[in-house]
Amino acid sequence: MNIEEMAEEFLVCPKCHNNLIYKIFKGKEILICKTCRAYYPVEDEIPMLLIDDAINIDDSINIDDSD
Ligand SMILES: [Zn+2]
Repeated sequence: MNIEEMAEEFLVCPKCHNNLIYKIFKGKEILICKTCRAYYPVEDEIPMLLIDDAINIDDSINIDDSD
């Protein structure tokens, strides 16, 4: 199981507990919460799912499922 499958199946947003979406953004792995319009970094394949790590999504990130 890769991190994308693991993330989308098991990981939830620490704020709202909705499912997260895995994406590569600017060459980095991130996990997006559409509900909070925030994302969490993944560092060395470890998702940083702390509320303090949440980064607000701006218009530069496409949070739709289509790439
Ligand atoms: Zn959330």
